[in-house]
Amino acid sequence: MSDVVHYAVRDGIAVITLDNPPVNGLGNALRAAIMERLKKADADPAVKGALIIGSAKAFSGGADIREFNQPRTKPDLFEVNDQQDAMSKPLIAAIGGFALGGGLELALACHYRIAAPKAQLGLPEVKLGILPGSGGTQRLPRVIPMAEAVRMMTTGNSIPAEKAKELGLVDEIAQGDLLEAALGFTKNILKQAKKNPRVRDMKPRLEGDPKAFFAQVREQVAKESKGYPAPLVIVGCAEAAATLPFDEGRKVERDGFAKLVVSNESKALRHMFFAERQTSKIPDVPEDTPTREVKKAAVIGAGTMGGGIAMSFVNAGIPVTLIDTTEEFINKGFKKIQDNYAATVSKGRLKQEDMDKRLGLIKKATKVEEAKDADIIVEAVFERMDVKQDIFRKLDAIAKPGAILASNTSTLDVDKIAEATKRPQDVIGTHFFSPANVMRLLEVVRGKKTGKDVLATTMKLGKALKKVPVVSGVCDGFIGNRMIEKYGQQSLFLLDEGCTPQQVDAAAQKWGLAMGPFTMGDMAGLDIGWEIRKRRYQERPDFVYSKVGDRIAELGRFGQKTGKGWYRYEPGNRKPLPDPEVDKLISQYRKEQNIQTRAISDEEIVERLVYALVNEGAKILEEGIALRASDIDMVYLTGYGFPPFRGGPMFYADTVGLEKVLNSIQTFQKGYQGAVWKPAPLLVKLAKEGKKFNA
Ligand code: NAD
Repeated sequence: MSDVVHYAVRDGIAVITLDNPPVNGLGNALRAAIMERLKKADADPAVKGALIIGSAKAFSGGADIREFNQPRTKPDLFEVNDQQDAMSKPLIAAIGGFALGGGLELALACHYRIAAPKAQLGLPEVKLGILPGSGGTQRLPRVIPMAEAVRMMTTGNSIPAEKAKELGLVDEIAQGDLLEAALGFTKNILKQAKKNPRVRDMKPRLEGDPKAFFAQVREQVAKESKGYPAPLVIVGCAEAAATLPFDEGRKVERDGFAKLVVSNESKALRHMFFAERQTSKIPDVPEDTPTREVKKAAVIGAGTMGGGIAMSFVNAGIPVTLIDTTEEFINKGFKKIQDNYAATVSKGRLKQEDMDKRLGLIKKATKVEEAKDADIIVEAVFERMDVKQDIFRKLDAIAKPGAILASNTSTLDVDKIAEATKRPQDVIGTHFFSPANVMRLLEVVRGKKTGKDVLATTMKLGKALKKVPVVSGVCDGFIGNRMIEKYGQQSLFLLDEGCTPQQVDAAAQKWGLAMGPFTMGDMAGLDIGWEIRKRRYQERPDFVYSKVGDRIAELGRFGQKTGKGWYRYEPGNRKPLPDPEVDKLISQYRKEQNIQTRAISDEEIVERLVYALVNEGAKILEEGIALRASDIDMVYLTGYGFPPFRGGPMFYADTVGLEKVLNSIQTFQKGYQGAVWKPAPLLVKLAKEGKKFNA
């Protein structure tokens, strides 16, 4: 038998130790091994009781994600659970670290549970759009009060040992060594010679009328689950637990699981889960590539981005020297950071002492020389090549050997920036998103000469900063902004053709985007896009825009910050209000351009916006700017408010079917400004072959 489980007998108690690192994932081998040892323990007359224990870190993290796409072999977890129920001897789960998903279901099918003080218990399946499929929905509400069980299962949030004890999910909190405590606990149980309390035989913990209770729970959960199907299916299972015999309830659970696991929402959430774990895999940079130590950082430019980047470093405990040109600017930048933390403290989400600790890690400076002992220097000054090159020339002169020189540029050529130094191997792009202390996305821009160790170090650092680092090659806008430009271009054409900003935004939002293009523009500042377009008119005369965006900007309507943009804003209020002046301006423009308007459906609006992303994404993929389609999806999921249940633009296109996507694009080619729609060759090829972006 494999050694994912160890078996020993101590004082007449069988100790079944799970040893399947890193998290005791309940893969094929582990399930079979547990089953075998349970039978062995039950059959051995010298054994009086048994306990299952994992590592200090993990009792079990549930299903083994490494086996998700592999065939499952017998026994299933519910068959192991049946064996647990069939045990004639007391069976105890000794939970050190986390017991999650199938791991908690394994513990729930034991007769007793004892947990280390730091243990965490939960059923997080809902976060992947599914439900606990091995009796969890039936056993949990028999052990803890129904309302608590529903909350745990529909949010997926775990609870600490102390709370679990309070609710009745664990019988005892272990003091000292977990195994010794569990052995002591088991001996006590044996002394009492009680009948084994099987959870399946217990009464569900619900007082009062189930009908009224579940009507109310359904209403509440429907509100919170925002169109995701799993939470309500879980409520249905919980209701079955309350009203049906155990085995019938388990059938409801199995049916619910089967339905959810094939839903697009669950597929999208699982795609996202795996996509996040993929981003750090770089084909020519193996995982054992040596990395450099990053113990100290410096940030040049204490503006919007520099401040947020400095916060990201100190939040991760990395001291940072923050540099701007004058005392005034550096103090202003530092004050903003202070205010930012103070707001978090006042909301009760950060302790004052932690705020002080973090601020204490920031050193203010006005000279680039002060960055000389930093292991990484992130430049976040104005978006101008001459300014950036000048900084990098200076950094080349003062930075210590081996320091990583990073630029936060959003559009400029990282290779050109690197040319200003004699160490282009140390230069890389770190494109944070605004607000940099909040947004999870970090585009890591790999220059032509960026060293592999520099790339590996930056990816590792990105994770340490709690970001999702995604590699991008060098191109204008990198992955995210290059795609969003095509999306923005379509949004303006939609206005030309007859839509209002609020119609476009409403359609986008209804589909699931966090906000529509015009609300987003007003938030980011319309001057930014205007500047980019003005540059494009020079550099890329082939790139066509509706001039309606420029007209708005020419009036000084830069969005929220000026109180007017595509919408108008009341002082102190961020709610976008439709503005007849904007409607007038748009219709004037249509008249001048002699554009025939027409009614445009919400469906077309969404297709035009999303397929513009998809088509550009396909080009980015083909050019090797992105390593894989799922990286593009992660960029949109973590940086652009793309709805998780759609799985990202490339995954969404896969679910629609690439042939269908291509057909729509070909239709758009015949419409207004159709020349901008050139189907990406990769899209054409995959559509023809009946394939997907995410293979
Ligand atoms: P900002 O204008 O808010 O801040 C720039 C700061 O750099 C200012 O405080 C300025 O005084 C300082 N600075 C200028 N020259 C300097 C020098 N020689 N030495 C030291 N400090 C200097 O700009 P921002 O919005 O923070 O943008 C900074 C960079 O980040 C740009 O490259 C921008 O494209 C990029 N970026 C911005 C965003 C965004 O949403 N604002 C998002 C991603 C990337």
